[in-house]
Amino acid sequence: MNVRNEYIFWGYGLFPDKDGDFIKKKMGECTGEEILKEVLYHLPVDNKEYILGVSHCIPTEMPFITSQFNIREKYDRPKVIPDGAENFGFLGQYVEIKDDVVFTVEYSVRSAMMAVYSLLGINKKVPPVYRGYLNPIIVWRAIKALLR
Ligand SMILES: Cc1cc2nc3c(=O)[nH]c(=O)nc-3n(C[C@H](O)[C@H](O)[C@H](O)COP(=O)(O)OP(=O)(O)OC[C@H]3O[C@@H](n4cnc5c(N)ncnc54)[C@H](O)[C@@H]3O)c2cc1C
Repeated sequence: MNVRNEYIFWGYGLFPDKDGDFIKKKMGECTGEEILKEVLYHLPVDNKEYILGVSHCIPTEMPFITSQFNIREKYDRPKVIPDGAENFGFLGQYVEIKDDVVFTVEYSVRSAMMAVYSLLGINKKVPPVYRGYLNPIIVWRAIKALLR
């Protein structure tokens, strides 16, 4: 197998309960081939049949993937180090980190840094959360992207 000639394409379907524009089935009822067909028919590519013939499309349902974005109150998630805790902390996507955004590796790593540095008394700084919304250039780019 020559991996240099292999490509991986990863995509998300946000509306699995709606019929496709080309394949008149819900995404959850489609085979991998049908999902790939739907995607390809939307794209301006010439060699669709060739791509279909040499590709494997493996559908995966992740029903809880958006649970991380559920609306929450301030105290729904534990702090990395709960008040008074001395020998344990919480890590991962379901802890509360001020100003940070979930669904990133960075979030989990930051929680681990916060817990380990603090509980073990390591004198290192946790990298600050990137706050793009305070940067006018980023805000301007975001507005342009929204209006495209
Ligand atoms: C499809 C998809 C695309 C993503 N894309 C990006 C991206 O582009 N950029 C980005 O930054 N983030 C992305 N993420 C998010 C990122 O992958 C996660 O936020 C990150 O992996 C979480 O790391 P974690 O170590 O907290 O948890 P996990 O990586 O989920 O690790 C938890 C581990 O604990 C194990 N485990 C669970 N229960 C037990 C148990 N009872 N006993 C022992 N072990 C257990 C699990 O098997 C797993 O190995 C993506 C996630 C998904 C699903």
